[in-house]
Amino acid sequence: MATAAKFETPRLKPYPVIPLVAEGAMAHSKPFVASARIQEAVGFPGELTEGWEQRAVARMGELLDKYRSLRVYMDACVHCGACSDKCHYFLGTGDPKNMPVARQDLMRGVYRRYFTFAGKHFPKLVGALDMTKDVLDQWWSYYNQCSECRRCSVFCPYGIDTAEVTMAAREIMDSVGLGQKYANEIIGKVHKIGNNLGIPGPALADTLEGLEEDTKGETGVDVRFPLDAKGAEVLLVTPSADFFSEPHVESLIGYAKVFHAAGISWTLSAKASEAGNFGLFIGNYEQLRAIALRIREAALELGVKRIVVGECGHAWRVAYSFWNTLVGIGAGGKDPFAIELQNQLDGRYKQPMHICELTHDLIARGALQFDKEKNDDRVITFHDSCNVARGSRLGDTPGGQFTIPRDILRAVANRFVDMAPGTTHEATFCCGGGGGLLTDDLLELRVKGALPRMEALKNVVDAHGVNFMATICAICKAQFSKVLPMYGFDMGMVGGVHQLVGKAIRLGGSH
Ligand code: SF4
Ligand code: SF4
Repeated sequence: MATAAKFETPRLKPYPVIPLVAEGAMAHSKPFVASARIQEAVGFPGELTEGWEQRAVARMGELLDKYRSLRVYMDACVHCGACSDKCHYFLGTGDPKNMPVARQDLMRGVYRRYFTFAGKHFPKLVGALDMTKDVLDQWWSYYNQCSECRRCSVFCPYGIDTAEVTMAAREIMDSVGLGQKYANEIIGKVHKIGNNLGIPGPALADTLEGLEEDTKGETGVDVRFPLDAKGAEVLLVTPSADFFSEPHVESLIGYAKVFHAAGISWTLSAKASEAGNFGLFIGNYEQLRAIALRIREAALELGVKRIVVGECGHAWRVAYSFWNTLVGIGAGGKDPFAIELQNQLDGRYKQPMHICELTHDLIARGALQFDKEKNDDRVITFHDSCNVARGSRLGDTPGGQFTIPRDILRAVANRFVDMAPGTTHEATFCCGGGGGLLTDDLLELRVKGALPRMEALKNVVDAHGVNFMATICAICKAQFSKVLPMYGFDMGMVGGVHQLVGKAIRLGGSH
């Protein structure tokens, strides 16, 4: 077992400072490599074998042909530098290879060598790189230091999306047998058991029963947490962390109370007991599709009319941007099962819908009542999660992904303060643990990458007494729970929007 590198938590500064460049500062940061067993279980080669260089270049060629955006990203960069100080991992580490343009250049050099005239004939003149083990080692390190947060792309005049470059690099590495243990092991668990945590159906049923008892004890009301209830109106697909982890479970309790108070019948599914889809993180659309298919199957088996997604940033991006074209949920698919599901789902609702959209809509229609003062012990701020902020939308109007969670927070609590402009909304800083990096073998990276968010948080803590940071992402919640104490904050100051909803909602009698 490798041991974690020793490192110091960065010092919080009152305002963002572009760090001095520290060449190679994070070259040692690499995730654990997946074993042959883990790799093969998800259909990848078990390890690097002879001829991997040619196979990697061939896979790159396939991706360039398939995704024109990738080719445009390889060709379009003018090295203007506008992105160079926008990555939280550069700001937290000073390693120049964590500048987004430098991260892209690790692939761009190989692209030039094998896919451009100049690179084939005059490689030295155009910075072309042979696909060698040394280059692969750099890919392994630095494409696993990108959380695919897309902040840099907001500032790029050409909209070059480094996240997509990272996804392609990880797909190429997986295709030659070099995969990340954390992400690929989790994908294997979803295929085998149904969720990232590997919780089997009976354990899930026990947990939900326990939550019913706890909630009855707390409120005196019979709030149900149904599992595999055929004929329910809503299938809730939520990150499996909501079942077992703190503070995530508090949001699950909040969703259940919303359904109860609104009189909406709902169910969870043992088969689709995971909203997360790590196929996105490894840039593999076959995995993305296979994982999403479980949700389609569960929805068909249970006969639900609506599919609602819980608090999970990348899961919502997958649901919002990919479920239709990949598996036909809501629209898009042409195969018989997709058409059957499209006919089954209620067309009067958005399919899929985010739990915040559902709650927001119920609030707007006066269907939910709150005792806001129950959250008066909290001064709340909101952390926009990258995949919701920059990879999807909530509601029907541009920017709904920013206004809807904030509207909900203002409806359920009296004291809300935003962090500084430039650190929220579309310019939000990643928590530091997204994109498949939420693993302790990358703890140094996670802690240092959290620095810009921690600095923005410290400012509202000092100026306004903020003591709670709400978010709608399971990864953000887990990452902040880990790193907040390292920056001198209370780990309990992070939680979900529906944690606060659940605290303030009036339940009335049982339905
Ligand atoms: S996508 Fe995010 S993590 Fe990746 S290079 Fe850009 S800013 Fe950094
Ligand atoms: S901002 Fe865009 S064009 Fe400029 S260096 Fe970065 S990726 Fe290249």
